[in-house]
Amino acid sequence: MSIINHDPYSYHPLENIEEVDIFNDALERKHLTKKVSEERPYTYWTIELYDQQNGIRGGGGLGILAADTRRVAENMGVPFALITPFYPYEAHQVMENGKLVDQHIPVDYKKFGFKYINQVFVKCCGNLCALDVVEKAFRNTRIIGITEPNFGELYQGLSGSDHRLYQEVSLGFGGYAALKLLGLKPAIMQLNEVATFFAALARLDELAGNGMDFYEAMVYTRKHTLYTNHTLVQAAEAEFSYEQFERFVFPNLKSLAVKKWLSNNFTDGKIKLSSVTIEIAEMRSGVSKLHARVANYHDLAGNKVKFKAVTNGVDLKFWTLPRLLEFYQNNGILDQTLLPTADYAQKLEFLSSDKIRQFKLLGRQEMNRILEKYPDHNGQILEFKDDDLIFDFRRRLVDYKRPEMPFKDPKRLRQVLEKHSAYYILAGRVHSGDKTMSDKLQMIFDTIEHDDYLKTHVFYLPDYNEELAYALSVGSNVTINIPIVGLEACGTSWMKDVTNLNLLISTHDGGVADGPMSAYLNVSGENEPEELDAVYKQMENAALIWENDFDLEYSIKHALGAFLPVISGTRMMHDYLDYLFSM
Ligand SMILES: *Cc1c(COP(=O)(O)O)cnc(C)c1O
Repeated sequence: MSIINHDPYSYHPLENIEEVDIFNDALERKHLTKKVSEERPYTYWTIELYDQQNGIRGGGGLGILAADTRRVAENMGVPFALITPFYPYEAHQVMENGKLVDQHIPVDYKKFGFKYINQVFVKCCGNLCALDVVEKAFRNTRIIGITEPNFGELYQGLSGSDHRLYQEVSLGFGGYAALKLLGLKPAIMQLNEVATFFAALARLDELAGNGMDFYEAMVYTRKHTLYTNHTLVQAAEAEFSYEQFERFVFPNLKSLAVKKWLSNNFTDGKIKLSSVTIEIAEMRSGVSKLHARVANYHDLAGNKVKFKAVTNGVDLKFWTLPRLLEFYQNNGILDQTLLPTADYAQKLEFLSSDKIRQFKLLGRQEMNRILEKYPDHNGQILEFKDDDLIFDFRRRLVDYKRPEMPFKDPKRLRQVLEKHSAYYILAGRVHSGDKTMSDKLQMIFDTIEHDDYLKTHVFYLPDYNEELAYALSVGSNVTINIPIVGLEACGTSWMKDVTNLNLLISTHDGGVADGPMSAYLNVSGENEPEELDAVYKQMENAALIWENDFDLEYSIKHALGAFLPVISGTRMMHDYLDYLFSM
């Protein structure tokens, strides 16, 4: 099917629906078949994708998850379409005179193998806005990008701003029109957070606008939509005003009933997208067991929303050192689809301390190669020896992850590191405009400067990205993950460390809490000073474990035993498929 309209001003993204199609859909709904096929892929909607090999840089975990989900679908042969903006600019951070400075770099989709398909249109503020649809295929999966020269950057402006709404409407309505252009119908629409609500709205409007009874259309849309939540509190979400919807949303609707429904969901002239996303999606998931339990959301009737727990996983092929992945597969620990085998726990016996040290040596060399491209905060290139002990803290630098915590008692930090001639690498980006965090980072620099040991053994790597994440997970020895308990939805950084045989020091939070506390070096306490004490103690323990073959083998096997099924992206995809197709 190809709907190419040569007169853009007569084009409406929601036209050109075949009646027969809808009839079939209604029949299918009765039998509840949501069959996935080449023409009816699993569709995944995300405002953020973190996939630099394909020219798209994200901001953090939300985008990493999207990229991993597509790669896992590719490994497993699941027909899958990921729809996301292709932002024409991306943000970087560089150090200038001891300060982090934002840079904005243009990106050209053509340089990353995307091909131009055609244009689609959305109506905004009385104008018809043309959006380019670009596409890149990877076997049974594809990335469909929505873009135009003024689309801007990821998370540009404030979250309730016109520009954000424009981006979200373009992704939703434009992306839905793009599917039609490509002759695709979604078997399932997975909404990766509420910024993608408009995709489901476009579907609802298409059905209701073409003669299906509104209630029927809603039931149908709901049955095929999954809302994946990553946020803990609904209250924290930005709102849009009715006036903004009048300019950006309503003009794109064909059905009066849909417009009426949407209008009724405003409170005091404001709307939170989560409130309507909950209504339009019958299936809702949270990203770890703990998160699904504690996410505090209410539907419009005031009832607490239940989220199904589908813990995030990572694409083990992408994130694991290749020789180590081979080892997992050749020894029957992971099967061909990268799922842990039925007896993986026994098969872990093949992983001796010798092997662990060999793989870490390879990882260290790989890390050194990658670090040649990434100077530290003083502009120097880091290179580590084979037997240097390295601690790392690498993740988005946001308050609840507490990157500054290990620096609160510099004497003690020095003691632990010095005793084992160890190094500490901090990597992570500060969200531009996050003054609190940039001040904290400055304090960390000052602390390092004022201690002659820390000065030569603690390094900060700016402009954190996937490659650095990979480098450190294969090349360091111990990772530190200490979010305030209750605030991490899942986290995937630590998963990359587990698969690459690093010791994990962590609070019992997010996806880590899917496993038992005994599977990693736990940090807990009644208050922050107690937790900090635990951090230093566990750093000392970790150093001792690395000095002892028996302890090393035991700890690594124990962690893999507990966490391999949790961190496997294939397990995650199976969980989603089971959930989606049993409902
Ligand atoms: C894995 C990864 C993340 C995820 O970080 P969490 O803090 O664990 O959610 C973020 N950014 C990059 C570049 C990553 O590789």
